[in-house]
Amino acid sequence: MPNPIIIANWKMNCTRAESLEIARAIAGYAGNHNIVVCPPFTVLFPLVQALKNLKLGGQDCSAHEKGAHTGEISASQLKDAGCSYVILGHSERRRNLNEQSELIREKATRALNSGLIPIICVGETAEEKKLGHTLEIIGEQLLSSVPAGANPGNAIIAYEPVWSIGTGVVPKDAEVAQAAEFIVRATKNIPIIYGGSVNGDNAADLLKIKNISGLLVGGASLNPKEFWKIVNSVNVTV
Ligand code: PEP
Repeated sequence: MPNPIIIANWKMNCTRAESLEIARAIAGYAGNHNIVVCPPFTVLFPLVQALKNLKLGGQDCSAHEKGAHTGEISASQLKDAGCSYVILGHSERRRNLNEQSELIREKATRALNSGLIPIICVGETAEEKKLGHTLEIIGEQLLSSVPAGANPGNAIIAYEPVWSIGTGVVPKDAEVAQAAEFIVRATKNIPIIYGGSVNGDNAADLLKIKNISGLLVGGASLNPKEFWKIVNSVNVTV
């Protein structure tokens, strides 16, 4: 794995001042690491202005190109604000906003058309895992969320078991490996990253799992010291 990608999902956290403080710390140690910060929309532009060496992503985009869609942000607006990535289909949006895979596919198509790399999230709930439906659920989500134009060069799949997000519970290596193997085959080699309770202590081991090309980090990405441990763990595997 040449240069694993480490993606920070700040969710709905941080004022402008807090964002700048965290982002400056990250930019200070980013070096040649492949880091993407996905902050709230409101701080995208201030971060672009203040920091030249950080790649940025949005946390969502609209399925529409432009027009009368109050409150929405288009893929081309994200691109215009300095983004090169966008997270789509995060389980918090699937669950809390009832986003369906077909909508996520439309958003991903807009992202691709605007030159953004969609990071399409898939993953099973605790209940689905208990019933042994993990691969079936991931398969359905991939089939309906990943647009026809997605390929290994322009998209990323984030495997994020819902039960692992923000809980401190991480799947066994073999479980991540099994899901990743399945996704690689189903998507014809679109790169896969893992997300769910990643921290400085487990990042290196997660990056060693076959077919895992990076990490999507929520809570720990708001703490620059902890995030540094995660970023630094990349060295262990290259
Ligand atoms: C996420 O929400 O994408 C995520 C991985 O969160 P956390 O790292 O906090 O589990």
